[in-house]
Amino acid sequence: MRVDVDGVIVHLAEGASLLEAARLAGAELPTLCHDDRLTPAGSCRTCLVRSGGNVVAACVTPAADGTVVEVAADELRALRRDAVELIVSALPPRALDGGAEGGELARVCHELGITPDGARGRGGRGRDDSHPYVHLDRDLCIACGRCVRMCAEVQGTFALTLTGRGADTVVAPGTGGPWADSDCVSCGGCVDTCPTGALTEPGLPAGGRARISGRTRTTCGYCGVGCSLEVLTHDGEVAAILPDHDGPVNQGHACVKGRFAHGFLHSPERLTRPLLRRDGRLEPVSWSEALGHVARGLRAALAEGGPDAVAAISSARATNEENYLIQKFMRVAVGTNNVDNCSRLCHAPSAAGLTAAFGLSGGTDSFDDVERADCLLLVGANPVEAHPVVGARLLQRVLRGASLIVADPRAVGLALHADVHLRPRPGSNVALFNGLAHVLLAEGLIDDDFLRRRAAGLPELATLLAGYPPDRVSVLTGVPAEDLLAAARLYGRSERPAIVYGLGVTEHLHGTDGVRALTNLAILRGAVGTGRGFGVNPLRGQNNVQGASDMGALPDLLPGYAKVADPAARARAADVWGTPLPDRPGMRIPEMFAAARAGTLRALWIVGEDVCVTDPDATRVAEALEACPMVVCQELFLSETARRADVVLPAAAWLEKDGTFVNFDRRFQRVRPALDPPGEARTDFAIVHALASALGVDLGCRTPAETLAECGRVAPLFAGISHERLDREGAVPWPCPDPGRPGEASLYRERFATPDGLAHLAACPYLPPGETPDDRYPLILVTGRRWAHYNSGNMTRRTANLGLEAADRLDLHPADAARYGLGEGDPVTVRSRHGRATLITHLSDDVAPGQVFCAFHFPAAGVNTLTSGHADTVTSCPEYKVTAVRLIPGWDEAM
Ligand code: SF4
Repeated sequence: MRVDVDGVIVHLAEGASLLEAARLAGAELPTLCHDDRLTPAGSCRTCLVRSGGNVVAACVTPAADGTVVEVAADELRALRRDAVELIVSALPPRALDGGAEGGELARVCHELGITPDGARGRGGRGRDDSHPYVHLDRDLCIACGRCVRMCAEVQGTFALTLTGRGADTVVAPGTGGPWADSDCVSCGGCVDTCPTGALTEPGLPAGGRARISGRTRTTCGYCGVGCSLEVLTHDGEVAAILPDHDGPVNQGHACVKGRFAHGFLHSPERLTRPLLRRDGRLEPVSWSEALGHVARGLRAALAEGGPDAVAAISSARATNEENYLIQKFMRVAVGTNNVDNCSRLCHAPSAAGLTAAFGLSGGTDSFDDVERADCLLLVGANPVEAHPVVGARLLQRVLRGASLIVADPRAVGLALHADVHLRPRPGSNVALFNGLAHVLLAEGLIDDDFLRRRAAGLPELATLLAGYPPDRVSVLTGVPAEDLLAAARLYGRSERPAIVYGLGVTEHLHGTDGVRALTNLAILRGAVGTGRGFGVNPLRGQNNVQGASDMGALPDLLPGYAKVADPAARARAADVWGTPLPDRPGMRIPEMFAAARAGTLRALWIVGEDVCVTDPDATRVAEALEACPMVVCQELFLSETARRADVVLPAAAWLEKDGTFVNFDRRFQRVRPALDPPGEARTDFAIVHALASALGVDLGCRTPAETLAECGRVAPLFAGISHERLDREGAVPWPCPDPGRPGEASLYRERFATPDGLAHLAACPYLPPGETPDDRYPLILVTGRRWAHYNSGNMTRRTANLGLEAADRLDLHPADAARYGLGEGDPVTVRSRHGRATLITHLSDDVAPGQVFCAFHFPAAGVNTLTSGHADTVTSCPEYKVTAVRLIPGWDEAM
């Protein structure tokens, strides 16, 4: 399409607006109600241009081939100035504070020559500062509606509205009342888009963003979405964190954690000196004393039990380079494969299941492909709370027409928008997925050609599926047969169906079977490895849980998923590292704890994981730490785990580190330090090097960039990725064996990475969960995350997020509450066969009768003393999602 803008010819795609044409021609127009991420409103009338003889708002007027647009004429400029002047006339003069350096409105006024004299508003409409992160100055609101549309169209929360009439129109929470009591989920989108400063966040220095002294682009250190963020610093502190508008995954959006929860950095509780246990108490010591103690402890452990008497739990919060260095330390300096990471507790079944089905240990496609999917099957995940930016993008897709099937026992956020919501009993996933597969097969909703050419295992699966007709599956799962049929038909009849799943699939006694049975659906439907759809993607939990495993912080796998037991793989790593490697797979995390309790593990090194809060059957974990002669812990705070350590080493946080993370769809992205660590705290990277030096070992890898380069020599999957390339390109997905070629965002277009090149169907029978309710423990507890907090809560509890969610609560159905005589907000004791937790009730029919739900963000509640030692039979991933419990009104202190 060819458009003439004041004599400049520009070419645009169909559907483009006159505003896009003007911008392409280099013309500047005020656009006070416009944000490129939002549907144009055309309400402020400030972007006036002339086209076809009429004066029109450029943002809402579509361009057509041959359109002639006038922008620069004096009378048009005067009209635009009048429009802005009219808006400004109702505002107080401070609306123009900052001038050319101020906010969007102040800058527009500066450009149009409108001075503060033109701002004659009397104000008096008041403020709402009730919310910790979003403050409203009503006198600066011009009712442009950008915040309202941002909340609806990008975040999908619909928390805001415009109230009042005429000049009194102002943004307000849709629920009425103060902002703090509204449905706002604190994504910050409204603040980011507000052109006037009516909506602001506290923390910026006087003079606003123009006064900040540093800007650093980095990747969020909370969840596995991998949002790209810009960190504004001032006087050695974070002033604000903004979503990067070019962020490959977040595209200018963020959530309450990445956007606002940085206050923990300057918490007085930050560890700033090493601590050493003496006479039962942890005391500050010098680094040399702490490291000397650890080195002596490691040597003693090696002397007593050999290399396998030492183990390390690496960190999904640490960078790739740190994880690489930790596993190298264990394999090279100690001589053991006893290294694991917390993917053991979440997505180890994904790694095992996806590798068996498709060949590689990661999601099959880029999350961007969700834009092409016409049906989303969301299973065992609550992205609205746990991965908010993904939740928002999924909702956008649904609002634009994709159908949605949610399979989750709870009415999680997106279930509200689902075409079909399947609510299987916790622990019955395999039966549910087999039931869906049965319908696909029975009704011919499969891709015969794909199955013939690219898949194996259909006869065995078909035989198994004969035993999973809808009626039987309904009995096994509690899902009505008609819902099962509706879901299978929706998925099976879609052209580009996509599967997104979470820990509700993996954290089960048969979690790997669950992943396999789920991948069956995509294979049967031919909806994976085609380049036409989205395939199967797990939502990874912690920021770098994918990367920690990619880097080989696993007991059976080297960097790049080469098997420890494979002599050729060992030889390749040994060649780079200059030393032979241990050939026996090491211990998994639960085995480490068992070995500590049995007295055979003599030294345990825990990096950035609060295992006493996050791991199941926490009482037994604490016993393991008590039994181990030396426990070393690297942490930001004196966590429940650090309290039990013999040596605590103060570590840097993600905003203080250099390196890379890998997000949930396999993208490497850069992590850059915005600040120095406080006091004597060091990066995990520096600590590992210091520890190696204390043992007289040189690990090489002087810098994080050098480390990733060495990793590429050990692991061909990553050989094409470097810091320098990421600095240039932003994000690169693996596999990427060649620096001259792009990484593979969508996998398996030609062949699957299995030995025979085929996708493998799996005939997994349904087997019951490890825990079942009985008369004594009649309810099923499911655990998960809340939106305001993250994992053990060590970071978010030390921010103003505490004001948004002050304690762990137990969600229970009103019918169960009535049975126990419990009301909203009542104290309640939850007991399982393993322990006791104390919580506050929240009555909600989001949970089904007979089920209860809680998070484990607050250690004092003791939630993970409840969960059992049952674990996935293939990978040892704990069965967090099924614990039989009973309730006792009040806080019962006795066990
Ligand atoms: Fe950070 Fe995840 Fe929130 Fe993005 S969605 S800002 S990665 S916590």
